[in-house]
Amino acid sequence: MSYLKVENIYKQFAGKVALEDVNAEFEKGELVCILGPSGCGKTTLLRIIAGLETADGGKVIIDGRDCTMLPPSKRNFGIVFQSYALFPNMTVEQNILFGLSEQKKLNRKQLRSRALEVLELVDLTEHKNKYPFQLSGGQQQRTALARAIALSPGYLLLDEPLSALDAKVRSKLRLEIRRIQRELGITTVMVTHDQEEALTMADRIIVMNNAVIEQVGAPRAIYERPENKFVADFIGTMNFYHNSTGDFGIRPENIILTKNKPSENYLTGKITFLEFKGAMIRVYSKLHDNCEICADLPAETAAAMELTENDTVYLRIADRHLIQYAEAL
Ligand code: ATP
Repeated sequence: MSYLKVENIYKQFAGKVALEDVNAEFEKGELVCILGPSGCGKTTLLRIIAGLETADGGKVIIDGRDCTMLPPSKRNFGIVFQSYALFPNMTVEQNILFGLSEQKKLNRKQLRSRALEVLELVDLTEHKNKYPFQLSGGQQQRTALARAIALSPGYLLLDEPLSALDAKVRSKLRLEIRRIQRELGITTVMVTHDQEEALTMADRIIVMNNAVIEQVGAPRAIYERPENKFVADFIGTMNFYHNSTGDFGIRPENIILTKNKPSENYLTGKITFLEFKGAMIRVYSKLHDNCEICADLPAETAAAMELTENDTVYLRIADRHLIQYAEAL
């Protein structure tokens, strides 16, 4: 049985539907990302799971118990927001102790020892006496995470926890959150609009758009077998392409590009733009019917081929890499 379940959740704000009969299940110990564009309803869903928002219809089941009407304080979760929401006049350790003060069963010494334990877990021991303004954004967010897990909650909710951080810190914290989450084995629901974040962190991804769930699956399945055009377009880069047998999607890394005319089936294109992406080059080519397609090549290969704009190139698309959707494109 799943640890957390939402059933037929319906929510509207001033006549506008934010969630339309949403159903989702979260297994014990897994990290699930709710991914989707701005305004699709993901934060509202998270807030309903937390009890911070009330649904107009549907149920929230936690650990087999109907918690739909339960206030947040009775739901036993930890939460981390995009804005770290730390108390500015308290040190890192005091921030965590404050969160722990609800824990009536522990005496002062035990509370302190628990605070030090979670600080160790998020690697902040040496910063425990600093105030939030003395910390980097990443360290503040780690403090918020330590505070959220200090009470050993049943589940963890993360609302865009990394989006206020710069790219480098963000990718480091992704791994760190993942490590801590695995170590604790805590069921975690994370909202993000960043597809790369969802692909690297999640056990499963729930892709949302316009108040509904478009697809649920493991990152790899979502990437390799998107079920509809929205998911295909939203996750990674996809070329949309049609031939005599139908409409397809093809990932840039699955296109073979050469300057020599091959004997097998190929498409002829003219390079319109070369985009340097570090380890690889993305080659944009215009095909005879004016359709533009992009192909990724290792930077070294592209350099050896001496590709330049306006070159004629030949593109081969292996059938096994074509993605055809259940719905018409
Ligand atoms: P973002 O990534 O921008 O936070 P989101 O996917 O989390 O977007 P929600 O915040 O869940 O989206 O909002 C879904 C829809 O509900 C939006 O159209 C939003 O404007 C609306 N909405 C959310 N909260 C409220 C509110 N308290 N009052 C009125 N409308 C709201």
